[in-house]
Amino acid sequence: MAVIKHSKQRDAIRQFLMSRTDHPTAEVVYANVIKEFPSISLGTVYRNLSFLVENGQAIKVPCEDGSVHFDGNVHPHYHFQCKTCGAVLDLDMDGIEEAQSLNRAAAANFKGMIDGNVTFFYGTCPDCMMKQ
Ligand SMILES: [Zn+2]
Ligand SMILES: [Zn+2]
Repeated sequence: MAVIKHSKQRDAIRQFLMSRTDHPTAEVVYANVIKEFPSISLGTVYRNLSFLVENGQAIKVPCEDGSVHFDGNVHPHYHFQCKTCGAVLDLDMDGIEEAQSLNRAAAANFKGMIDGNVTFFYGTCPDCMMKQ
């Protein structure tokens, strides 16, 4: 992995992610962080986002439509993407432990080790429902 020297930039990227609940893409992070660090490149933003994800300080949310979003909220939670506007929302779910018992079910007849699973929900968001 490339050496990342500019931890001020990484702090700014992390701060920005923590301040948002709309799961920005790397491009959105870049468009905001460049206001504070005019010389930052999109590649640096990507590298810092990967670093945060690898170190458990952010979550990468790959979506159905091929876009990749980032989340500063690292507590286990599920995501929803609107098929109409592409918005990525957090789901406030009851029974999240039941959803995670899927790991145990998957591990039952599997000789390897299951660390997690990715479940993704999609449909129409409340804003788009209003517009219909
Ligand atoms: Zn929508
Ligand atoms: Zn989230």
